[in-house]
This record gives sequence, C-alpha cells and structure tokens, in this order.
Amino acid sequence: MLNLQDSALFRTENYIDGQWVSGGIGHVLVHNPANGEVIAKVTDGDADDATIAVEAAARAFKTWSRMPAQQRATLIRLWYDLIMANADDLGALMTAEQGKPLAEAIGEIEYGASFIEYYAEECKRVKGATIPTIANDRRLQTYKQAVGVVGCITPWNFPSAMIARKAGPAIAAGCTVVIKPDPNTPLSALALCELADRAGIPAGVLNVVVGSDSAAIGKVLTQHPDIAKFSFTGSTAVGRVLMAQCATTVKKISLELGGNAPYIVFDDADIAEAITHCVATKFRNCGQTCVCSNRIYVQSSIAEEFITGLGEAIAALKVADGFADGATLGPLINSKAVEKMDELMADAVEKGAKVLMGGKRHELGQCFYEPTLLTNISPDMRLANEEIFGPIAAVQTFETEEEVVARANDTEFGLAAYFFTRDVGRVMRVSENLEYGIVCSNSGVFSTAVAPFGGWKQSGIGSEGGQEGIADFYATKFHSMGGIDR
Ligand code: NAP
Repeated sequence: MLNLQDSALFRTENYIDGQWVSGGIGHVLVHNPANGEVIAKVTDGDADDATIAVEAAARAFKTWSRMPAQQRATLIRLWYDLIMANADDLGALMTAEQGKPLAEAIGEIEYGASFIEYYAEECKRVKGATIPTIANDRRLQTYKQAVGVVGCITPWNFPSAMIARKAGPAIAAGCTVVIKPDPNTPLSALALCELADRAGIPAGVLNVVVGSDSAAIGKVLTQHPDIAKFSFTGSTAVGRVLMAQCATTVKKISLELGGNAPYIVFDDADIAEAITHCVATKFRNCGQTCVCSNRIYVQSSIAEEFITGLGEAIAALKVADGFADGATLGPLINSKAVEKMDELMADAVEKGAKVLMGGKRHELGQCFYEPTLLTNISPDMRLANEEIFGPIAAVQTFETEEEVVARANDTEFGLAAYFFTRDVGRVMRVSENLEYGIVCSNSGVFSTAVAPFGGWKQSGIGSEGGQEGIADFYATKFHSMGGIDR
C-alpha cells in the first residue's frame, strides 16, 4: 500500500459532475511496473459514463463560460497551489503506477502545474478586436468566446502533465472538459480531480472517466454532438483514427502525436555538453517520451570521441525501482513495451548493428531493460525509422550539414529536433531548415508553459503552451453592428 501524507488523494472512482462515481463495467487493475503488484482497482467506466460526463460538462459550460475570467482564474490558481503543496504525494502516486523515478515524477507534477498557473494568468488577457469600419453606420468587432465542451484522451507516459496541458487552458478559457486518462495510469488523473474539487472548481467543469474500452469511450468523446473540440495526445496511428471520427461532426481538433527526433552533433560542438544532453533526452522516462532523441547523428570526425563519452555516461545511469535512492532509469510501462525492445534489437542486430552496451532485458524484473548503446546503424533498420520508445541509443554518422539535414527531415514525423554546433550561422541555417515544430540548439531542454509545443507533419495539429495553447479553446465571433447612425 502506498504511503501518502494525504491518503485522500488515492481515488479509485470516476469523477463525474463533481461526484465520485462507482459502477461502470467492473474494475481496471493498476499495476506497479517495477514489481508487477496490483496497486489499485479503479472503476472501469464505459460509454454511458462518458455520455453522462459530457452532458454534465455541457450543463456546467452554461455558467462556467459566463463567469468573469478573473473569478475563474482565482479558482484555477487555487488548484495550482494545491497541486504544488501536494507535489510529493502526487509524484509518489505517479512513480507507483508509471514507474518513472520519484524525482522525475515530482518534476512532472511541477511542470504540469506550471501550465495551470500560466493559463490562470493568461485567460485574463485574451482580447477580441475593434476593426476600422468600412461604413459610418456600421461597427466591426470580434469576440473570443469559449468553444464549449472539450473531450480529451491522454497517454500513460506523462499521466499528469498531459492532462494539465489540456485542462489548464481549456477551463481557463471557460470550456468544460471530459478526460479519458490512460487505464495504465488513472491515479494521477483522479488525484488532480480531488484537488480541483478542493479548490472549488464547480461540478461538471472537470470530469474524468477511466475505462478499458477506449474505443467506445473514444467514440463518445469524438462524436457526441455536445463536444465542440477534441484534444488527443498519443500515437500517430491512433490520432489518425480519432481525427477521422471527429470528421463526422466537424469538431475542432488538437493532436499531439508521435515523434522521431533527430539529435545532431556537428564537429565544432561542445562534445561534453552534447553527451550530457544526449543522455538526458534519450533516457528520460526510460526513453518513453515523444521528444526523446531517437536518431542520433554524429559528424564522423568526432564519432569515436562522442561514442566513448556517451558509453561512459550511460554506464553511470542507475537502473532501479523509481522509489530507490538515486534511481535514474525505471522500468518500461509494461511487458508489451519490453517485447518491442526485443523486436527492435533483433531487427537491428540482424541488419548489422553493433551492440556496445546492454541490448537485453535487465535482471531487475519483467519490465526492466538494460540501457543500450548501438552503432553501425543503417537506414533500413526499424529503429532508424520508428519511435523507439525505450532505452536504446542508436548512433549514426554523417559527413556534411546538407546531408544530415536531409536525413533528419526524411520522416513523416516533425515534432522535436536537436542539434549542437558553436557556429552561429549554422545555428540559424539548421534551425530554419529542419522541418519540425520544435528545434532545440545546444541544449536538450526546451519544454515550458510559456512557449508553444506542437508537431509538424504527422506529429500533430496545434500547440500546447504559450499563447497558442489557449487560443484553440476560443472561437472567434465577428460582430457586424449596423444602424449606428439611426
Ligand atoms: P496510444 O497507443 O496512441 O494511446 C494513447 C491513448 O489513446 C491511450 O490512453 C489509449 O488507451 C487511447 N486509445 C487507443 N486507441 C483508442 C481509440 N480507438 N479510441 C480512443 N482512445 C484510444 O499511445 P501510447 O503508446 O499510449 O503513448 C505513447 C505515444 O504518445 C507515443 O507515440 C508518443 O510519442 C505520443 N506522445 C506525444 C506527445 C506530444 O506532445 N506530441 C506527448 C506524449 C506522448 P488504451 O491503451 O486503453 O487503448
């Protein structure tokens, strides 16, 4: 049993219309991926629960959207304060259900909360416009109005932040939300509801329906006539399906989908820095982030030095249960994810990859995998084309800037890209030529509530963070006012 300072944060029922609701179609079992133990039995909601939640959200929208932004902001800010005050407990819940090291989990809680704080401030500043008139008896104005009920589906890899990045701006704008969190990690989502309830966010504004029948709940959230907008974070394959479902009722959509991030190190880079950030971007959350460096390209003249240093840095990672002191690499989310590592490795080795470190399951338990370093990577290998989503670093070499930019862009994905060089002209050229929604030079750290995070190409539509992250929750209305001179 988890030892929380505030045990009331451990919620196992759905949160619908301000009530904790049991029933559903049974229970979802939540496992600790570090040891396989069942840590919770959570209500398994179904399409009927999702429909009831959408109807509650539609009722709540009538009053919430009309509440002055200042008042909404006060309640949302209180929610933020409660999340920050309970960050240790929320982090512990996340480590228990998701596996990431506790320090990383608490970092995610604070990162997610920063979006809630930012949008509580930002909603007070969203403005329409007065447009110079085209005739003296008319006046032209635009209003920004909350779009309506928002359906959200979120993944397990960031069980708290992916909800905060959607729900924060949505409710700040005056929308109401119905969220289906991933059934692997529902406890983080439900604890956020408990704190929203304590903050006084009214019934129906924030609803969470956990459910194992994702297709059935997904249909409600993408097709119910009361849903005005749908926001999804997850894989590109599922994003395509949900986008098609949204087409039947022409919903506004935001999609944060998969990535295949290039990590490019030029020969004039600060190699020590490039290695440090490479390990951070590759192994964060055991390699399970959409912006993990996936294809590591190193200019051939420095390849040996870089690979040696990278190997040393990887060897210093501590693979352990996320609650262990000093843990830097926890387990993968489930055994299916481990099987995928086995498959990618078998394919790469068969096609000539050289295994410098790791390459197999870790003795710590069923979901652990050894941090792995591979060289001799060729473009026909699966891991050179697909999201690896695990702790395998695969290094390729290149000769020229033109060549590596072309190779980096040769993918259907366009989420994040990293490069290291001290040549300022190259910094500008490469940042402009990479076909990605996010480019990060000379660092592996970029994500913040104050800037837009979003993918190009098949990595998504829209952005979370910055002014862009709230804009999509408003609809623009044009008011043409006549009869002024009468
Ligand atoms: P996934 O397989 O697409 O699943 C995401 C969520 O969608 C899960 O909760 C899943 O629930 C649900 N889902 C699956 N099929 C559905 C359907 N037909 N209808 C409704 N819901 C459905 O992705 P994942 O493997 O969990 O997450 C990792 C992916 O997310 C990676 O590709 C990663 O790059 C991406 N990601 C992107 C961002 C970003 O900001 N761009 C951030 C984080 C993650 P069930 O599992 O129960 O079916």
